[in-house]
Amino acid sequence: MQFIDLAAQYQHLKTKIDARIKTVLDHGNYIMGPEVQELEDELAKYVGVKHAITCANGTDALTLAMMVLDIKAGDAVFCPTFTFFATAEVIAYEGATPVFVDSDEATFNICPIDLEKRIQATIAEGKLIPKAIIAVDLFGLPANYPEIQKIADKYNLKLIEDAAQGFGGSIDGKRAGSFGDIATTSFFPAKPLGCYGDGGAVFTNNDEYAELLKSYRVHGKGKDKYDNIRIGMNSRLDTIQAAILLEKLAEFPTELVNRNKAADNYEKTLSDKHQTPQVPTGYVSSWAQYTLVSTNRDADMAAYKEQGIPTMIYYGTCMHEQTAFSLLGYQAGDFPIAEKLAKSVFSLPMHPYL
Ligand SMILES: *Cc1c(COP(=O)(O)O)cnc(C)c1O
Repeated sequence: MQFIDLAAQYQHLKTKIDARIKTVLDHGNYIMGPEVQELEDELAKYVGVKHAITCANGTDALTLAMMVLDIKAGDAVFCPTFTFFATAEVIAYEGATPVFVDSDEATFNICPIDLEKRIQATIAEGKLIPKAIIAVDLFGLPANYPEIQKIADKYNLKLIEDAAQGFGGSIDGKRAGSFGDIATTSFFPAKPLGCYGDGGAVFTNNDEYAELLKSYRVHGKGKDKYDNIRIGMNSRLDTIQAAILLEKLAEFPTELVNRNKAADNYEKTLSDKHQTPQVPTGYVSSWAQYTLVSTNRDADMAAYKEQGIPTMIYYGTCMHEQTAFSLLGYQAGDFPIAEKLAKSVFSLPMHPYL
């Protein structure tokens, strides 16, 4: 049994994906070919935003968002400590300071109450300028955007949605990728919508941000690519990956239903044995992971392994515990919920062909 069965998905879509790839090989526009624009139109439609701008991966998508919002040294950017490294990495990469926030015990997402406390503490300390919040749709469940947006407005902070795991999720019908000022996603193969390599996208309703994003992803181009008006990066989505994603996106709504059926089955069979993930009313998860909380993790994982069922730990180390962030001076006990989660969560196989 596979933890995420990408081969089963490929077998299901093989004829369509192979034909799409062949079209690209035949027309030869490997960089920024017509499939890229076609995909961006489809992505924007699906997410319900004005602009979808693809790029090379989900980390670059976040970096591009940082560049557009002019995040720099001296700025504080608030993000959860219980997340994948890239969320915090991109803040530090701009020379800004990540300020970590504890998790909500029930949803694993950034805790709005702790978020406000950390913002107030940062203001009181007076060393950094609070600039933005990166909220993460961890394991596929959208973060609490109604509350987080209120806090962003109150303290005049930009809000970025890291929907790398959240593509397909929603709150009251509003889709992941449409929250905050800018949202980002990843098409890494194991994400809910993945390609066959690296890929990513940025979403926004802001025309000015969209223009900047298109410039930053191609070396800060102006009128054409040899007219460089700002320092950017080389971060485009390959045409072949866009072609693959077009077929995967067409199938995605059906897959999302299947992921939710798999999660329902897990809930029915496991809720008396484990603490199972709960989806708040009005929320839809894309189930990037199906994550249990255990008081006896090693034994539970060993028991699944014995039955041929693979399990994984996402994540065993919080950001404030990472060696790369040790200079920030956080200590054990600073984030009690997140630290407890890191010691007790594990994930079961989850994919639409389970
Ligand atoms: C995967 C992931 C990213 C980075 O995406 P890549 O495409 O691997 O660069 C960022 N944030 C979160 C929460 C992720 O899970």
